[in-house]
Amino acid sequence: MSPRSRASQYVAAGLVTAGGLFWATRDAWPWRRPLTAQPIVITDAYVEFTETLGRRETLSDVLARAGITGRDYAAFLAAAQHLPVRRLRPGLAFQVRRLKTGSVAERVTVRLSPQRRLQLARDPSGWVEAVETIPWTIARFRISGAIESSLYDALDRFVADTFLPGGERRALAWAIADVYDWEVDFTRDVRSGDRFNVLLERLESPEGERRFGRILAARVDVARTPSYAFYFEDGASGIAGFYDEEGRSLRRAFLRAPLAFRRISSRFGSRFHPILHMWRTHEGVDYSAPYGTPVRATADGIVTRVGREEGGYGNLIELRHANGIRTRYGHLSAFARGLYVGERVQQEETIGYVGSTGLSTGPHLHYEFLVSGRPTNPQRKDMGSGTPVPKSLRAAYDSARAQLAAQLEAHGASRAAPTVAARDD
Ligand SMILES: [Zn+2]
Repeated sequence: MSPRSRASQYVAAGLVTAGGLFWATRDAWPWRRPLTAQPIVITDAYVEFTETLGRRETLSDVLARAGITGRDYAAFLAAAQHLPVRRLRPGLAFQVRRLKTGSVAERVTVRLSPQRRLQLARDPSGWVEAVETIPWTIARFRISGAIESSLYDALDRFVADTFLPGGERRALAWAIADVYDWEVDFTRDVRSGDRFNVLLERLESPEGERRFGRILAARVDVARTPSYAFYFEDGASGIAGFYDEEGRSLRRAFLRAPLAFRRISSRFGSRFHPILHMWRTHEGVDYSAPYGTPVRATADGIVTRVGREEGGYGNLIELRHANGIRTRYGHLSAFARGLYVGERVQQEETIGYVGSTGLSTGPHLHYEFLVSGRPTNPQRKDMGSGTPVPKSLRAAYDSARAQLAAQLEAHGASRAAPTVAARDD
């Protein structure tokens, strides 16, 4: 290690402290005035503070508050090759250091992404840019709990802020729903007392920030029936995804629901109120969701109807699938651009948008699953069966699954608090 890089590490360590302090106390402040400077660290020689990019502000506005203007600003811009000047988002924090005796910044640090930090430091010739990689550490944890009202609420209740902040808990809920996209409709299928048990990777930055990484294994008990998911990948064959305890892919011919869980806010996640739905001959499933929520084709198919219908449907799409199954999507506000009868669509493709056309008193999607022309309440068997792990990989899968299962079910399923299942060293 050269003396120069050691010096720069020392500088980075100082920033880490300041950044961590800022991060840890930010939510505790009763007032939030992002446009004013927040003094953080005062050493003998330097003052450090954070300037935040406000709405409708440009980089030059923020830097002007740090004393960087005119030709100095031009020199800063020329040096900041890695700063996406035209795509900076409001709320972006610039950590600024200046000499106590001076009025202009000596150093500006900004997070380009969770993984990268950009530092611009003044030297005698102008500004010098350096990009640092932020080393997030990965650890495995197991969380489990019971669902009372919704998956969102359960994760809020069982996962502490100190373990994962709110936005990351939401990302975790979405990821769980994604794993079970073909098996469980978390807006409708879960009953009070159903349980979840998830083995996940959590990332932690040197500054103490915590993020959800990915799910490795899960068990959800829906209507008292356990459903397992184990992540498995094989580089040579290109296989990657979730498989059940029998080695069958969780991917099926049909999605369980035409709306993605992540597009239905927790407020809208409850079952559609029957009184709101005035359509008497109603035979389908209703999803309450905001106007414009994208509607997904639940399976590969061919468009057989698209347009305004007489009767209650309003704007309707009908798809024809294999095995004599059709699906209908009603009350839409709009169709995917250019959608036409005869067109092939793929599973998960956006075909339209939630609306309130036809006999409808509020924005919602009317979804029908028809077998041989008759509206049917789709059962698990109607979703199709998942492709099994190839025979040649079966032994590798079984050993990976056994390892994950041991970590997933460790310590008994009754532990509600996040517990360390294993740690990668
Ligand atoms: Zn309906």
